[in-house]
Amino acid sequence: MGLPIVAIIGRPNVGKSTLVNRLAGEQTAIVHDEPGVTRDRTYMPAYWNDREYLVVDTGGLVFNDDTEFLPLIRQQALAALREASAAIFVVNGQTGPSPADEEIAEWLRQQPVPVLLAVNKCESPEQGIIQAAEFWELGLGEPYPISAIHGNGTGDLLDELIKYIPTVTEVPQTNEIKVAIVGRPNVGKSSLLNAFVGEERAIVSPISGTTRDAIDTFIERDGQQYRLIDTAGIRKKKNIDYGTEFFSINRAFKAIRRADVVLLVIDALDGVTEQDQKLAGRIIEDGRACIVVVNKWDAIEKDSHTIYDYEKTLQERLHFTDWASTIFVSALTGQRVEKILELVNQSAVEHKRRVSTSVINDVLEEAVRWHSPPTSRGGRQGKIYYGTQVTTQPPTIALFVNEAKRFNDNYRRYIERQFRQQLGFKGTPIRLLWRSKK
Ligand code: GDP
Ligand code: GDP
Repeated sequence: MGLPIVAIIGRPNVGKSTLVNRLAGEQTAIVHDEPGVTRDRTYMPAYWNDREYLVVDTGGLVFNDDTEFLPLIRQQALAALREASAAIFVVNGQTGPSPADEEIAEWLRQQPVPVLLAVNKCESPEQGIIQAAEFWELGLGEPYPISAIHGNGTGDLLDELIKYIPTVTEVPQTNEIKVAIVGRPNVGKSSLLNAFVGEERAIVSPISGTTRDAIDTFIERDGQQYRLIDTAGIRKKKNIDYGTEFFSINRAFKAIRRADVVLLVIDALDGVTEQDQKLAGRIIEDGRACIVVVNKWDAIEKDSHTIYDYEKTLQERLHFTDWASTIFVSALTGQRVEKILELVNQSAVEHKRRVSTSVINDVLEEAVRWHSPPTSRGGRQGKIYYGTQVTTQPPTIALFVNEAKRFNDNYRRYIERQFRQQLGFKGTPIRLLWRSKK
């Protein structure tokens, strides 16, 4: 269950990280695997009275764009706000409101999240009240004078803050589907992203030396939200250091890990390469749902056999295409691009699907009746007592048997095929755990 999130927003040097440390106190653990939490921000657990939450520093926000990096930071701040229950906007009480504060305030007023205004660096209580009063003009309600360094005023701020923090059991489950777009350079990942996003172009900015691995973009279709995790958004400067074939497999691996559903984008003209196979291997290892997106389909000369032949080649080179859906698209013309999202929805549902124990045991009984478990040389036969689904994402079924080692790979594959045939699970890998039970 994810904790509610409080995003700390503000210009550089106003004291955001000092405040984060103050709120998180001694608890310095960095939380990574909370659902809905992305990895490139640091989340610190914090609490006040009976409310627990995670506090996240969004990085210094600047609006007067004089470097290319700024839109990216803004995008990240937006990503943090999307998952936040409340935001604290930190300003510097010693300098008074600046035009940059006004810009941020205006932007914050458009965000659908409650915002508290913390006027930092107010060490003296009397002075603080006067300093804070200047910030009424930002139009964000009452300014709270605080000193992040010494802790003055933070109690009042937190009393107000927790009005917006749900108790843990009230945290709404986000229905957002996280979709990673991975593939070799030039297969059309950015073009695909742009096709999804339409006019709201993805921020594609060739900055060198950036430490960010991916930029998240949000889209919505028919009330369903998608977080697109794009690995192409940020690249190394062309021609320097790396050839055009530079390919950060690590970046792709990280994106896969964060995703519910992975779009493995393949260039129709090049077919499946070794790099595609590596990505496919990782998708299976991590148990992510997957859709094979064959892009640039417009550039292929087609006759009535083309798709069929292509699917055969995919099957030979990507052994998992028996469960992953495959779709042939053109990011350039937009052909079938929206259809990808339908497959994403279906795969996400299958990835999370639970099957009752009685259904699983019906399948097992039937399977064993057709094809009994192997008998070892010593003459003892493998016996399956029962099976049950122990978890989802990916669906994982534990099989309790007399001795797991009696079940060879052939038989295990047979049982897996039976589950696939009877239960579907299209678009998601499934896992079988063979457990000896004496
Ligand atoms: P960030 O860039 O917004 O994360 O700001 P930092 O937390 O790194 O703080 C920037 C500077 O402001 C540092 O030199 C801090 O010591 C100082 N600072 C932070 N909080 C306070 C405060 O409450 N009072 C005073 N006087 N200085 C502070
Ligand atoms: P990325 O490196 O994977 O992000 O690939 P890009 O989106 O930058 O695309 C690489 C090149 O392929 C660009 O020249 C695109 O115009 C071209 N491209 C992308 N999608 C398609 C498509 O569907 N059809 C054709 N013919 N070209 C495409």
